[in-house]
Amino acid sequence: MERGYGWVDRSGQTRMKVVHLTAPETISVRNIPVRCEFGPGELLLEPVLVGLTGSDLLRYRLGPPIVHGFRRPHIPGGEFVARVVACGRGTASRKLLGKRVVGNPVCPCMKCEWCLEGNRHQCPNVRVLGWPPVNGAMRQRFAWPADLCIEVPESMSGEVALLAAPLSLALSIVDNAHLPVMGKVAVIGAGQLGLMLIKILRAVGAGDVLSVDPNEYRRKLAVRHGATAAVDPYESVEFVRQWPRKGADVSIDVTNASEGSREAVATTRVGGHVIIAGIPRDNRILFNARDARQKELAMQFVRRPYKPLDRALQFLQLGTLAGIEELVTHTFPMEQAAEAYDLMRSRSDGVVKTILEMPPYQPAEESPARVYMEEAEEPRPS
Ligand SMILES: [Zn+2]
Repeated sequence: MERGYGWVDRSGQTRMKVVHLTAPETISVRNIPVRCEFGPGELLLEPVLVGLTGSDLLRYRLGPPIVHGFRRPHIPGGEFVARVVACGRGTASRKLLGKRVVGNPVCPCMKCEWCLEGNRHQCPNVRVLGWPPVNGAMRQRFAWPADLCIEVPESMSGEVALLAAPLSLALSIVDNAHLPVMGKVAVIGAGQLGLMLIKILRAVGAGDVLSVDPNEYRRKLAVRHGATAAVDPYESVEFVRQWPRKGADVSIDVTNASEGSREAVATTRVGGHVIIAGIPRDNRILFNARDARQKELAMQFVRRPYKPLDRALQFLQLGTLAGIEELVTHTFPMEQAAEAYDLMRSRSDGVVKTILEMPPYQPAEESPARVYMEEAEEPRPS
């Protein structure tokens, strides 16, 4: 698609606050001139809330991308609730003007074999909001394709709507689990995705759900959100031996540790399913191959949601996930983004999910003398 660009603010006032990742584990909030454009089929968005995700934390550790030998400051953030301030040409969504939307952060190419076969979540050419080279939502305005954005119902709070994107991934994991009704599940890791899975699994008819996590406060949270039991990793195998088939029908690894997959394999019954959806910090997974082979386990990796976000929004409206907003444990103003990241990194103060409240966009008094090109990977208009 040929992209048409136009200045959003005809007065040329594009100074805005952004969260910048300037070095590994270094965040600063700046007020800088940013080029802010939107093309056909895109919405211009003003974020209201932005969630910190596991991917954001991984990027935080890695630091901004190195371009021509220098660190290029990067704007993170892929999970957002935003208000629509303008619609590009060709968007059949003028009715969205002024409304709140949530957006899928993954933008498929729509040209490759996987996209054409309908498996857009497997597209190898995706652009991901908040992952280099694409700057993310932690700024006061940005553009994103209209067909990836879904209107948030008026009655839904921003905090709950923000959970639609991670919930969408959790639902895809459950789809892949082939879980029998009243089946037994072990969820390895009780972070935001693990806790969300526990809630969904109970809502869709899982029998027992065992949560496995080394942190005591997370184990307590897991029980509060519906786990039938929560144990430390070293107790997990012993625990599932009490189950009729001496293991879980399905074990799901949602940790960021390479040992998570070992736990998942060890706790699954003979002939069971293992789902691996965590991103191990050191890029390795470990499991006992003999154990997996002798049990003839079916293993499935799940990376991205494969259904649009509206399914997750509908699920949130059903009310069967009551109390899900409690997963948002900490809210910071955008100006305190560095503290928000630090809290997520340290896992202190009972944190599960941290979100940023974005300040409303205020046009600057003076026009900036120069303008930053914000997404360098985009072709310039000819
Ligand atoms: Zn594609």
